[in-house]
Amino acid sequence: MEIDIKDEYDVIILGGGITGLIVGNFLQKKGFSTLIVEKMPLAGGKCSELNWHGVKFDHFGHWDTVYGTTNPKEGTFYRACREAGVKLELNPLSWRVGFIKKGATEPEYASIDDWKGGKAMLDFAKLMTGIELNESQKEEFTQTIEKMASHSEEELMTMTYVTLKEWIDQNVKDELVKMFFTLVSTVTDTPVDELAFSHTAWMTGNLTQGKSVYATVSGGSSFKTFITPLVESAKKNDADILTNYTAQEIVIKDNAVNSVWVMNNSTFLNYKIKAKNIIVNIPLYDAYPKLLKDEMLNNDELEYIKRLIKTYTRDLSCYFILEKDTIKDLPGHFHAFDVTSGIPIYIGEICQQKNFGAIIPDEYDYLQIYIPGGRAGGFLMYEGDPNKVSYETLEEIKNKVLGIISKWMVPGFNDKILYSAITWSPNFGRYCVMAFPTNVEPKSKKINGLYFASDTVDCTCIGKLGLEKCGEVALRCTKAFLENNE
Ligand SMILES: Cc1cc2nc3c(=O)[nH]c(=O)nc-3n(C[C@H](O)[C@H](O)[C@H](O)COP(=O)(O)OP(=O)(O)OC[C@H]3O[C@@H](n4cnc5c(N)ncnc54)[C@H](O)[C@@H]3O)c2cc1C
Repeated sequence: MEIDIKDEYDVIILGGGITGLIVGNFLQKKGFSTLIVEKMPLAGGKCSELNWHGVKFDHFGHWDTVYGTTNPKEGTFYRACREAGVKLELNPLSWRVGFIKKGATEPEYASIDDWKGGKAMLDFAKLMTGIELNESQKEEFTQTIEKMASHSEEELMTMTYVTLKEWIDQNVKDELVKMFFTLVSTVTDTPVDELAFSHTAWMTGNLTQGKSVYATVSGGSSFKTFITPLVESAKKNDADILTNYTAQEIVIKDNAVNSVWVMNNSTFLNYKIKAKNIIVNIPLYDAYPKLLKDEMLNNDELEYIKRLIKTYTRDLSCYFILEKDTIKDLPGHFHAFDVTSGIPIYIGEICQQKNFGAIIPDEYDYLQIYIPGGRAGGFLMYEGDPNKVSYETLEEIKNKVLGIISKWMVPGFNDKILYSAITWSPNFGRYCVMAFPTNVEPKSKKINGLYFASDTVDCTCIGKLGLEKCGEVALRCTKAFLENNE
């Protein structure tokens, strides 16, 4: 092997994604010899970076969405990194909502900076649907919001299996008011009968109290702001990071972790490395069934993973490097809804902000579009297995969005593109708002020394999406690990 790898470690982390890196830093700092095995040439996973002629931009995750506070540094992700020994610089980010309405000549924008109180949410729902509720319906709407907001996190933790649909059916009488509440399912791109009430209530509660913030990274890209310091800090503390090696098999003996087989991706040679503890950072939908086998999981865990595989989805991100000054007049950073058909459809996010998620030299402009999910019936009108989408289909979807930008926002946009890239990546982070009746917790129920840490683990992380969830899972995993090893 190229680097001096020991024969045995206290803990081996499979996958060098952000959750694995946080946990790795934490445990190495606590004195456990740690190895991180990553199959790609660079660590980072879904926070990795694209590079075009020295222009660097985020491949996947772009910002942190923090509920429960207006200060991103009070968020769980920031706290988890800090406890792992890495301090981040985060900046709050304001958002807009853009609507493309039937018959209009330009999109309509609304700010969601001051989403305080049920009234603002009512205005938002009205803007989305064009429907005005009567006085008694408005009262029921406001009371329902207040009821949602009144639940504590602890109460909601006990309700993770209740779907939003079940709760609405029991708690809301008026059909139109019920319909208004289901709008949240368009924004999360999750059907209302799969969406967890607990997540919705936590997010709604925090929004109505003005307690939520989107945080951008300060170093240009997420990769530079999050991954680079986590990797440097791990190495400085003497953790080993083995990149370009694929975990092949977890060896279990007497119901306990014994070792792991890893393959060098260049030479295809296999190595066995011993450890009494293994933390799986690989998303569960990729780890099952080759690395995580049926006999290593209890019934609940198995059911959770099978459901996860059925429900996780892929997101499309499009990146454009443009001639300078192509996009002077766009309003910044916004959610776009297509309401031309009368039913609001969440198109995605169009992020035009200088250096947003990217390190761009002055001579270029940059625009990034994010389209969540490939769910049947959504904006993409894509039907079928997201894993089988062809490149042509993705190009078609990209062109559909480009058509919207050229028609509504930047005439002649297509002619100003110097370089464009698209990615179609599996993303559970965004969809972890679903109601799962079973759970995979950070500590294995069946195998001693086996732990799980990724955004696909633990459906009881209320209201936490993406990086916030990674932070929460990292904290829960290290806690479970220390309880068993100290
Ligand atoms: C398009 C997109 C946009 C997103 N936008 C946001 C956002 O704006 N805000 C936000 O908070 N979150 C966002 N997310 C979610 C966020 O990026 C993820 O939740 C987070 O990065 C997941 O980190 P992780 O460590 O759990 O897993 P991963 O990043 O998936 O890490 C798993 C690692 O395991 C490695 N691996 C896999 N198999 C093996 C193997 N056999 N051997 C060794 N290594 C292996 C992988 O290469 C990877 O590095 C987005 C995700 C996507 C896909």
